[in-house]
Amino acid sequence: MAHADTAAARLHELAAYYREHPVTGPVEGHTATVTAAAPLQLGTLDHIRAAVQEVADHTRTVNPDAGPLPRSAEDVYDWMRQHTQHADEVEQQRAEVIEYRQWLEHCLLAGDHETVHKRVRRQSCPECGCWTLIWMPEATRAVCTNTECVDRDGFSTTLSLSRLAHVHVTTRQNVRQARAT
Ligand SMILES: [Zn+2]
Repeated sequence: MAHADTAAARLHELAAYYREHPVTGPVEGHTATVTAAAPLQLGTLDHIRAAVQEVADHTRTVNPDAGPLPRSAEDVYDWMRQHTQHADEVEQQRAEVIEYRQWLEHCLLAGDHETVHKRVRRQSCPECGCWTLIWMPEATRAVCTNTECVDRDGFSTTLSLSRLAHVHVTTRQNVRQARAT
């Protein structure tokens, strides 16, 4: 792969896709122009806007002096890192969680469940510690396939994208801390 698979790279792809397939809004009597890719087109701009807004909100909450957003949507992650680098550890961790979750969301919007599935397989279940997580596209959640790993009502452990991102970031942090000592 020519570039690192990051949230920024994925957002760049979505923004490029949107520019190439702009949505001009519904035109009455011209339904013939609607193509098979329409759902992605219609959702893409809202998705990009929501992603950028979330990053902007977090950054400005942590650092009210962050200033204007970068011109390109995909630069918001660097912008967030730059303006939160002096924040306390908890806020920096939250920023990392947002970026990782958005990366997963960008993959899903582009229909790339395979990448999300591979990522999920590389995480251990936070409840039982086993490498038994699988991705369920229909539910947009990961589920633990360990039959012992159930809640009080007997339901399997499932993880939302947010929880997956949180577990991923805290695991990465623990590994970094372990290496540093
Ligand atoms: Zn489990």
